[in-house]
Amino acid sequence: MQSEIDLSKFWCLNEDCPDYGKRENRNIVFKEWYGKNNRALLQCKTCKHCFSETRGTMFFGLNTPREEVLRTLAMIPAKGSIRETARAARHDKNTICRWLDIAGAHSKEVTDYFLQDFNLTKMQVDKIWSYMKKRDKNSTNRSSGRKIV
Ligand SMILES: [Zn+2]
Repeated sequence: MQSEIDLSKFWCLNEDCPDYGKRENRNIVFKEWYGKNNRALLQCKTCKHCFSETRGTMFFGLNTPREEVLRTLAMIPAKGSIRETARAARHDKNTICRWLDIAGAHSKEVTDYFLQDFNLTKMQVDKIWSYMKKRDKNSTNRSSGRKIV
């Protein structure tokens, strides 16, 4: 038995659609199950655009809109550090780190967003991910008690 899909958590991902990004607008309908893992295929009634339930899932549970999260993370290459990004975007540094973690868990999906929706280059996107890796390395160093200068 599949659990019910909560359609209010989804929104149309087609930017040309008049209902793009609108939540709880009732324009999203369930279309069918597909694939080995029984993913839900959803459809926007307004523009007939179909998309998988996995698109956009990274933003579930966040109080910040998808656009804001991505816009903030997309600033990292230009700002050069998480601290500067936090200052410019007026978000807490820890919040941005958390978003980076969540985004990193869906890095393929998020990379697509950055490349398509934000017109970032592959190099800039790699730079965003490098901050996540850098931070991982730092915390490893700290726990082992060594500091690499
Ligand atoms: Zn649509």
